[in-house]
Amino acid sequence: AGILNFCANNYLGLSSHPEVIRAGVETLEQFGAGLSSVRFICGTQSIHKDLEEKIARFHQREDAILYASCFDANAGLFEVLLTPEDAVLSDELNHASIIDGIRLCKANKYRYKHMDMQDLEAKLQEAQKHRLRLVATDGAFSMDGDIAPLREICRLAEKYGALVFVDECHATGFLGPNGRGTDELLGVMDKVTIINSTLGKALGGAAGGYTTGPKPLVDLLRQRSRPYLFSNSLPPAVVGCASKVLDLLMESNAIAQSMAAKTQRFRSKMTAAGFTISGQDHPICPVMLGDARLASVMADDMLSRGIYVIGFSYPVVPKGKARIRVQISAVHSDEDIDRCVEAFVEVGRKHGALP
Ligand code: PLP
Repeated sequence: AGILNFCANNYLGLSSHPEVIRAGVETLEQFGAGLSSVRFICGTQSIHKDLEEKIARFHQREDAILYASCFDANAGLFEVLLTPEDAVLSDELNHASIIDGIRLCKANKYRYKHMDMQDLEAKLQEAQKHRLRLVATDGAFSMDGDIAPLREICRLAEKYGALVFVDECHATGFLGPNGRGTDELLGVMDKVTIINSTLGKALGGAAGGYTTGPKPLVDLLRQRSRPYLFSNSLPPAVVGCASKVLDLLMESNAIAQSMAAKTQRFRSKMTAAGFTISGQDHPICPVMLGDARLASVMADDMLSRGIYVIGFSYPVVPKGKARIRVQISAVHSDEDIDRCVEAFVEVGRKHGALP
């Protein structure tokens, strides 16, 4: 019956969408395999400019700049934006690439407890002495499937005169009524200043990342951001696929909308079966098991039942918090989801994770 993949970031199933594949092939044929150049030398084609314009329109921001990955977008942002007179306040569970990007800048660094608004406020008060403050958070956290409290973050940012930066890798394309992301879901699209996201997950799954936000910031990044200046331009086929994905998402919100009910089905069935699922209303559904060996043997047994999932344990997650991270996709049918739940119940009983 084949193996069902429940561990990809292919949230909308668009990596195998026929129109996306066709767009990639056509762009490859028309624009070539690659540019053999960074953007500012001879690595910019009309399709790169078009995609940047589309990304900005999708997020309702002024402008956008492409990178080879979101890792690069995160590595290239903070150093350009922040000086030693400024401060950055970062959630302690932010993605490694945000942490690395912050390491590269000379701003004063504050780390607030995960999604703890009291702690963020205390750190914002401490940071008042600096010239400029930037709060940095993931929109959705990939290990726990929890969603940043952006409304409260934006309220505090307003109160203490801070900018807000959100990494939307696990939100772009499917969170919010039109799939614009966490800021749309929580009604703060006009309050989040800068968004970084990836083309390598819901938006086709190939590669590429970007920053979108105020035009003067994007202009500055084009002049100064090191991963942009010193790394090759995105290959045309990748640009063609991502561009088609954005067309599909902007034509109708049906694809983005198809996600929520699937997520809800998995989460409620698993909870009813007795499992603990971390996070809320997000297609990242970590099945919390605690023990690393249990997570690993259960994942192996799931595969023998045709369900592809992976156990996560220390150092990827804290000790004692091992889990199997299930990721739901809009292309999973209800039957696929039920098959996955049934396999979890069988395997969970066999290994003592369920009574
Ligand atoms: N930010 C977050 C939250 C991620 O989960 C990832 C990918 O794992 C990245 C950034 C990096 O994205 P990319 O694969 O485009 O470099």
